[in-house]
Amino acid sequence: MEARLVSYQDIGVEVRHFVFEAPGADALPALPGQFVSFTGEVGGRRVTRPYSLAGLPQGNRFELCLNRVKEGLFSPWLFELEPGQTVAMQGPLGYFTPRQPFRDSVLVATGTGVAPFRAFLQSEAVLASGARITLLFGARQEESLLYRAEFEQLERIRPGFRYMPTLTRPPEGWQGRTGRVQAHLDEALEGRADLDVYLCGMREMVDDIRRLLKERGFERRQIIAEKYD
Ligand SMILES: Cc1cc2nc3c(=O)[nH]c(=O)nc-3n(C[C@H](O)[C@H](O)[C@H](O)COP(=O)(O)OP(=O)(O)OC[C@H]3O[C@@H](n4cnc5c(N)ncnc54)[C@H](O)[C@@H]3O)c2cc1C
Repeated sequence: MEARLVSYQDIGVEVRHFVFEAPGADALPALPGQFVSFTGEVGGRRVTRPYSLAGLPQGNRFELCLNRVKEGLFSPWLFELEPGQTVAMQGPLGYFTPRQPFRDSVLVATGTGVAPFRAFLQSEAVLASGARITLLFGARQEESLLYRAEFEQLERIRPGFRYMPTLTRPPEGWQGRTGRVQAHLDEALEGRADLDVYLCGMREMVDDIRRLLKERGFERRQIIAEKYD
């Protein structure tokens, strides 16, 4: 399958939101949390990388949220793409999807790890579940609070949804949480150990939070994780 770039927008420091379409397909059947796998020729090498869908596809259109890894191979190449250009694609794939039935949950993300949670939070099955949902999201700077306005809006209109952003490099005058997500896990858990916890981001954060959860009595099946590295 092919993906054709429709448009893009810079939404954080070195973070870009992309809209692609799959020409020839009427729809792209995907579960929230799934990813697509892109393949390109970079410097004479065939390179494949997975990217979480940053929302539920609409027809054959879908969104991604990408970090440009400075020393990386494939992500800088994707940042060179212009609308109309195409890339080889497989998917959607993956099992990092909301459990059925969806229970009270804490979603923990850092950086572009928030992408699959944007898809979770567009899902009717998740939103209509009545579950209490906390999104604990860590970013470096305020400009990198990806999709902030959407999550703040959801907090206003969807009872039981809580948005907990935290910054490791807060600007002067920032009144919100600071430091890493690890420091705010207990606030997110509200003293409960009967929740499902979904983790998405870099290995270090995922492993750290998993260890903290185990110390708090969480069982393996309550921890659902996607590691980006
Ligand atoms: C299931 C899955 C879903 C993914 N979804 C996304 C996504 O939605 N958005 C996204 O930006 N990346 C995502 N990634 C990471 C992505 O596949 C690539 O690893 C990333 O783009 C770097 O590739 P590269 O060729 O540029 O760097 P490489 O040359 O492969 O260098 C890898 C380096 O990049 C670091 N790295 C990997 N991902 C990130 C990241 N997101 N932010 C900062 N550093 C990173 C690694 O720690 C490593 O040091 C996902 C990975 C997996 C396994």
